[in-house]
Amino acid sequence: MTKHYLLTPGPVPVPPEIALKEALPVFHHRTGEFAAVYRDIAKGLKYIFQTENEVYALASSGTGAMEATVANLLSPGDRIIVASCGIFGCRWIEIAQEYGMEVVSVSVEWGKAVKPAEIEKALRENPDVKAVYTTFVETSTGVANDIKTIGEIVSKTNAVLVVDAISGLVGQEFRADEWKVDATVSASQKGFMLAPGLAFIMLSGKAWKLVENSKLPKFYFDVRKYKKFYALSETPFTPPITLIVALQESIRLIREKGLENIWNECGLLAKAARSGMKALGLELFGEVPCEVVTSALVPVEIGVEIVETLREKYGVSIAGGQGDLKGKIIRFAHMGYIGKADLLVGFTCLEMVLIELGMKIEKGKAAAAVEKVLLKAM
Ligand code: PMP
Repeated sequence: MTKHYLLTPGPVPVPPEIALKEALPVFHHRTGEFAAVYRDIAKGLKYIFQTENEVYALASSGTGAMEATVANLLSPGDRIIVASCGIFGCRWIEIAQEYGMEVVSVSVEWGKAVKPAEIEKALRENPDVKAVYTTFVETSTGVANDIKTIGEIVSKTNAVLVVDAISGLVGQEFRADEWKVDATVSASQKGFMLAPGLAFIMLSGKAWKLVENSKLPKFYFDVRKYKKFYALSETPFTPPITLIVALQESIRLIREKGLENIWNECGLLAKAARSGMKALGLELFGEVPCEVVTSALVPVEIGVEIVETLREKYGVSIAGGQGDLKGKIIRFAHMGYIGKADLLVGFTCLEMVLIELGMKIEKGKAAAAVEKVLLKAM
């Protein structure tokens, strides 16, 4: 049996405190016991999203919440702007087009960050658009977008700003209200350190005005139902009770450490990971590297093999590239329950694999580079 190190940008490892909660027997959800848990997580989610708005938990992966923002905010014939810079930005386009929306695409090459000035220009040229959809951390490239600046721009118009913060939330500074974000979605399997299966959706007052006029079909993900039941500390349908109970523990752990300390720690791990990649002779990928995952270019002949060998020989899972980036990059996560020691293990094993696959690297360089950054911060 090989010990397994999960260093992928979602899912991330589940801490034992949370895993134990996930193992508890289920209880009924139309009870005071559930309502008490729900009230507690409702408060905690506001802290994590840095918002005064209500945040609803949905039984789905993150994409379900993404789809909910389209189905609940828009109406047939609406036009939206999508500012995308990778696979998950493109997912906004796919969902919106499936619902028949007209998409004004403000896309940039994968690896670049979206350009706030381009969004501003698109808004000027298309004053009728209902919403701007974008991504906070584009997990497929490891790039972070400047949501604060985009929020300033969009807030001056009638459009709402919808942000996919599925992988960035918790790990990297994100302030929904201060940054004037109208709708944010996230999911359980990243910064929250939970098993997959729970998604979150936050809506501002400006977004609720669109909800009230939205004419797209929806049933399960109709946010009006979630709002109505939220007032009762319940969910409209049977919730994933186990995950909600585990979420209470996740929020407790996040609060105990403090969001700002978590942001700082992810920032430090990101610095160490970038230094580790450079020490391995790999070029960093991504114009504005985020703090929850580090991407680097790898020789294409061995791109897929690196990830497979690392997992099979050493039990270390990192991610490769997706879509057009398949085989071209590797992605090493450092969010959630991934710490300094995991980074040292991961980079040491990565170095061994690269040497085995024929790259000329002086032994011990990656760990030394990671150590140097970590020690400097002690
Ligand atoms: N957006 C981003 C930024 C993501 O990282 C992911 C998951 N990798 C998704 C959307 C899709 O989420 P899910 O797989 O939970 O549906």
